[in-house]
Amino acid sequence: MKLILLGAPGAGKGTQAEIISETYKIPTVSTGNIIRAALENGTEMGLKAKAYTEKGELVPDDVVIGIIKERLSEDDCKNGFILDGFPRTIPQAKALDDMNISVDAALSIEVADSEIVKRMSGRRVCEKCGASYHTEFKKPLKEGVCNSCGGRLVIRKDDEPETVLNRLKVFHEQTEPLKDFYKAKEKLLLVEGQDDVKDTTALVLKALSEL
Ligand code: ADP
Ligand code: ZN
Repeated sequence: MKLILLGAPGAGKGTQAEIISETYKIPTVSTGNIIRAALENGTEMGLKAKAYTEKGELVPDDVVIGIIKERLSEDDCKNGFILDGFPRTIPQAKALDDMNISVDAALSIEVADSEIVKRMSGRRVCEKCGASYHTEFKKPLKEGVCNSCGGRLVIRKDDEPETVLNRLKVFHEQTEPLKDFYKAKEKLLLVEGQDDVKDTTALVLKALSEL
């Protein structure tokens, strides 16, 4: 299965991606995680991306398209993949088309802005493996510690309130038009994000099983 996950920042794409990945045994490709790793390792690409991510802006299309081309050509992506956080602009979606990648679905997790702001303030990520948690909705077994790798859970710099509002604006302006793009291809699946992560997962897995 080749799947795109759409949705506002903080809509829970990453969390759902983890579960879909386990269920369908396909890797998750998260441009956000790849960019964060590059930032930490201080690579050239990381240096280019830093100023954008910290302001809540999108990293330029050519940079992320390059990342995706490289990543999707790796062996583990042969039998399918979940794209979490890519494409985020129309040119990025067109780049996938140009690579002759046709997805089975673009699944959009729908969450209201007011809810997003509430969720982001409680978001925590593992500084080692990137797994995401929430102080209220998705608590780790032990406070401040990652369930899967024991890493420390931290607040992402771009989860600060002001940056969150800018990321939402960017989402509505640049990413939301992708819904019409995939609707026109009859690939769009809409799932209403629920208060409880498990309820959203149930809806997501049901939608995918009907593909
Ligand atoms: P979110 O929680 O907003 O979904 P991500 O972890 O997917 O965040 O991405 C974090 C940041 O990395 C974004 O705010 C953006 O600056 C950059 N980024 C990630 N994916 C893309 C993309 N496809 N195009 C441009 N920038 C991206
Ligand atoms: Zn971890």
